Amino acid sequence: MLKKELNIETKVVHGNKYYDTNTGAISFPIYQSATFRHMGKEGEYDYSRQQNPTREELENAIANLEDGRFGFAFSSGMAAISTVLKLFPPGQHIIVSEDLYGGTYRIFENIYSKYGIEFTYVDTSQKHTVESAFKENTAAVFIETPSNPMMKVTDITAITGMAKERNILTIVDNTFLTPYLQKPLSLGADIVVHSGTKYLGGHNDTLAGFIIVNDEAIADRLRLIQKSEGAVLAPFDSWLILRGIKTLGVRMEKQQKNALQIAQWLKHHKKVESVRYIGLPEHEAYEVSRKQASGFGAMISFTVNNMETAEQILSKVKIILFAESLGGVESLITFPVGQTHGDIPISIRERLGINEKLLRLSVGIENVDDLINDLEQALG
Ligand SMILES: *Cc1c(COP(=O)(O)O)cnc(C)c1O
Repeated sequence: MLKKELNIETKVVHGNKYYDTNTGAISFPIYQSATFRHMGKEGEYDYSRQQNPTREELENAIANLEDGRFGFAFSSGMAAISTVLKLFPPGQHIIVSEDLYGGTYRIFENIYSKYGIEFTYVDTSQKHTVESAFKENTAAVFIETPSNPMMKVTDITAITGMAKERNILTIVDNTFLTPYLQKPLSLGADIVVHSGTKYLGGHNDTLAGFIIVNDEAIADRLRLIQKSEGAVLAPFDSWLILRGIKTLGVRMEKQQKNALQIAQWLKHHKKVESVRYIGLPEHEAYEVSRKQASGFGAMISFTVNNMETAEQILSKVKIILFAESLGGVESLITFPVGQTHGDIPISIRERLGINEKLLRLSVGIENVDDLINDLEQALG
């Protein structure tokens, strides 16, 4: 008997409609139009800031993948996160994972705190630290799991349980695992955000961001913010992400297989002090990951013996490219302290272990032996 509910490997290939119902086109068309003639039909398109058929197909596709009811596509992950923050009026308080994408920290501290929203950064992988951070005016918990760059894992159900008791929202940044491996809404989260620039797009060719929710009242508010501000994903970029998502399953499988082999290899290198990969059984939250996700993704952080070795690796890698971003088919390596996390205060960075010896590796789909050989010659 075939299962009635489609498996995610099938869902990623077919998007929402499977094909364009106007023309039969298998590759969903890029409706490159800012405005639409009024046709006197129900639910017709009007103006592309409000809705565009290509963006709509993508929004419905991502909602399906996350097992959510409503999806929204934005011009970047940060535009999506910024939209979520506008749900909260001044005076409210949000608890945030302290190990966090640097740009998210920057927008919270340098922009939204000036509009009167208060943030407390805690280790959300520890239930008691979250418990003690709740205040009278706490309106939400914002978590990134696995976290960037230290690969800490937060137990999503534990957080959503605490949040529901207090009638507040849980927001999960699901960029690192994607719905292919982790579905926060089904674990009780209210809002999922993504940088679609990373695994969903998968080819380092465009920026994109997403929000997915189940609650209709929240969806209505998000829709109002989206159409009023216009940080929407353009038709061509929506098409690029639709195309990227078709191979999300095969990319993720290959990337995480490569990542596990590389993490195991790094562990035994004499110049490597520690390896953080959530798929290693010695990772402190290995069991939590197994419980809430169907895989471990392809992000690895590791520390080397000293800063000179870190610099040497960055200058000597050939196949692995020294560049920001992650999740694409190309393997990339970054130096968080100098790049993605440069805006995090030194005191927080040091506490988390984001130092001059730390490197972050986004493993791509290349041949794993070639990647290991490249690391070997770079480590020297
Ligand atoms: C990259 C990233 C973002 C920001 O997304 P952009 O598409 O670069 O705006 C947010 N969260 C995480 C976890 C990211 O990796």
